[in-house]
Amino acid sequence: MTTAMTTRAATEVATTTDRRAADRGADGAADGRPVASRAYDSDVIERRKVLLVEDERSISGPLAAALEREGFDATVAGTASEALELASEAVPDLVLLDLMLPDGSGFDVCRELRRTSDVPVVMLTARADEADRIVGLELGADDYVVKPFSAREVIARVRAVLRRTTAPARGAEEGGRVEIGDLTLDRERRSAALAGEELDLSRKEFDLLERLMRAAGTVVTREQLIEDVWDMNWFGSTKTLDVHVSGLRRKLGDDAAEPRYIHTVRGVGFRFSAPSDLTG
Ligand code: CA
Repeated sequence: MTTAMTTRAATEVATTTDRRAADRGADGAADGRPVASRAYDSDVIERRKVLLVEDERSISGPLAAALEREGFDATVAGTASEALELASEAVPDLVLLDLMLPDGSGFDVCRELRRTSDVPVVMLTARADEADRIVGLELGADDYVVKPFSAREVIARVRAVLRRTTAPARGAEEGGRVEIGDLTLDRERRSAALAGEELDLSRKEFDLLERLMRAAGTVVTREQLIEDVWDMNWFGSTKTLDVHVSGLRRKLGDDAAEPRYIHTVRGVGFRFSAPSDLTG
């Protein structure tokens, strides 16, 4: 299996690279625009740092090589302790995290990372068990890829997560601040304050709050929230959403039975109070 995976990964890398080269050739000939203006080349210029935590060399070797070829700066950690060390030293832009490590669980690494940083985490899981994916997402991981995967699949996921987690443009375009009741949300600073007191929100909590406040007064379905806040790569249970909603309510001082801000619309989703609901 190990050999097969290596071969498969190597094949995928070759395929991706060839296709990319072909794309560039076609682009240049077709519209004459400089290749560097293409969106995917921004990664090449910035050399985003990816920390790959994986003890199986047959996986980490080809995957790190593929990441490098696709313009990322890849660093490999083979153990949980090395992962934490490198995460604080190298300050990666994204962490690819295997769950079964020789000296511990990837979940513990994820939990530890979340204590100090909001770095996007994509779990690499060999297990088919859905519970694992849910635990990881509840610990604050952003996404996961199930083994065996191709390098192309992982890199596509890396790009999608980076796009989603480093896109402040939308808030800036729409105007940075939203005020509803005692709550103020600043999209540009990615911060929120309740009665002037800054709230300590996780990245997912902020995203969820931002999504709900943007639609204040209207119902946002559970499916929509999951898609917008956690991406569409989702299976099964939506318990993670409830965990984050209750965390958010606690921080807002909102009583689920008689909420001021976040109203449950049973079987459908959630509705954030409109400014007019809270005045007068
Ligand atoms: Ca492993």
